[in-house]
Amino acid sequence: MSEGVSWSSALQAALGSLEEGGRVSLASGDLAGHAHDEGVPFTSVPGAVVFAHSEDDILATLAVARQYSVPVTPWGAGTSLEGAVLPASGGISLDLGALDSMADLDPVGFTVRVGPGVRRVALNRRLRPHGLFFPVDPGADATLGGMAATNASGTTTVRYGGMRENVMALRVALMDGRVLKLGSLARKSSSGYALKQLLIGSEGTLGVLTSLTLRLHPLPPATVSTQLAFPDVAAAVSASVVLRGLGLVPERLEFVDADTVAAVNRHRARHDPELPTLWVELAGRDAADAEAGLALLREVAAETGGQVVGEARTPEAQSDLWAARHGVYDALRAAWPGHATRIGDICVPLSALSETASFMAQTLARYALTAPLVGHIGDGNLHLLMHAPPGDAAAWERIDHALHAIALHALSVGGTCTGEHGIGLRKRVYMREEHGEALNLMRDIKTLFDPQNLLNPGKVVGEID
Ligand SMILES: Cc1cc2nc3c(=O)[nH]c(=O)nc-3n(C[C@H](O)[C@H](O)[C@H](O)COP(=O)(O)OP(=O)(O)OC[C@H]3O[C@@H](n4cnc5c(N)ncnc54)[C@H](O)[C@@H]3O)c2cc1C
Repeated sequence: MSEGVSWSSALQAALGSLEEGGRVSLASGDLAGHAHDEGVPFTSVPGAVVFAHSEDDILATLAVARQYSVPVTPWGAGTSLEGAVLPASGGISLDLGALDSMADLDPVGFTVRVGPGVRRVALNRRLRPHGLFFPVDPGADATLGGMAATNASGTTTVRYGGMRENVMALRVALMDGRVLKLGSLARKSSSGYALKQLLIGSEGTLGVLTSLTLRLHPLPPATVSTQLAFPDVAAAVSASVVLRGLGLVPERLEFVDADTVAAVNRHRARHDPELPTLWVELAGRDAADAEAGLALLREVAAETGGQVVGEARTPEAQSDLWAARHGVYDALRAAWPGHATRIGDICVPLSALSETASFMAQTLARYALTAPLVGHIGDGNLHLLMHAPPGDAAAWERIDHALHAIALHALSVGGTCTGEHGIGLRKRVYMREEHGEALNLMRDIKTLFDPQNLLNPGKVVGEID
């Protein structure tokens, strides 16, 4: 490439030379569409967007980035919440959404290979006729590549684990042009360092995931869902901990507080009791087995002051029962039109759940804030849905202080500053407190993988400006 050729022209030439190569866009609409995520109020515009169609496109993009020292930030669906996907240093936003192939479905070994751009909802639609599903459910219709890169989890993690438990193998393109195959199709292995697990959750800072082999699960033969209301948050938390202690492993175990139920009632014209509420789904070998679990659950609820609000046994009825839980985000947005939102995300040991919920309520009161509390409570993962008018600087400052106090509290009880949304830009401030000396080793690993610091620079282990 001759001197003076801009990196975007070099990109266009490199991708154009590939058979059916991807597309480089400098269009303002594409740049703006890759300048924000779902959680950060500020934007960061890339210099170009590459819409990759193949692993070769990814390798060609990385080669140009190396040659011209241009930052590259992988992009899945842009639904992450902590700034991880923002092209904070400009450069290339590498959109992987078109790599949406699905191959090698193995219904005996329970695996399938997918491109990183496959969306979660589409994947499960394609698996359903085979009696299989992929359990990790982050709520948003994210890509499998983005979900692996953030080690996503969600409503079903209490039963099936998150991405680290459900990705068996990866192909990864490194910044230096090598392509690694990590993991295997075996259900266990003692072989070598766990690099697959290192790449999962690395938020696009160590390599670009070009293909994933997923662990699938058979659809449960019978399920029942129930909705339980409690007199206060402590009673709901206590019920969730007791039922785990009894050895009941629900498919899903979710919590929302009273204000949130009220917001969903208004938004969806429902009439659920406006009390702290648990949603629980249980599976069984057959209907009788699932009902036996439900009977035990009713006993736990009764002992902790809970009342059964609803039960559902058919897919339609379950979908209606869960609609109130799944509608939380939309209901809250409707409750405060024009407000921006910011979702707090911490995870604590189950033994510290109750005191953490109280601490969160006290902290909101101290900063004169109201925010619904929702959580994947079976995992000890709590979210506060903060909201304020975008221009209300004083309110946002109070929100920052409150979320900061809550993150430090989570660390002080042996938890983590993020259960599932990742570090991105905003949570780097907790990395030293949470990881101590290990942060230095993480920075060494980043340098080993990416000596020019071009792949999603500044994120996760980056220094804070
Ligand atoms: C309403 C709402 C609810 C949510 N609830 C949850 C929840 O319950 N649980 C949860 O875990 N998350 C949740 N999220 C956050 C978000 O959906 C997840 O973080 C999701 O995993 C992001 O996937 P994505 O495809 O949108 O990734 P993006 O946002 O596009 O990218 C996320 C990160 O992954 C990197 N990346 C993307 N693709 C690749 C690739 N192929 N190779 C390497 N790096 C890559 C990006 O550079 C970035 O650092 C929620 C978000 C919203 C808006």
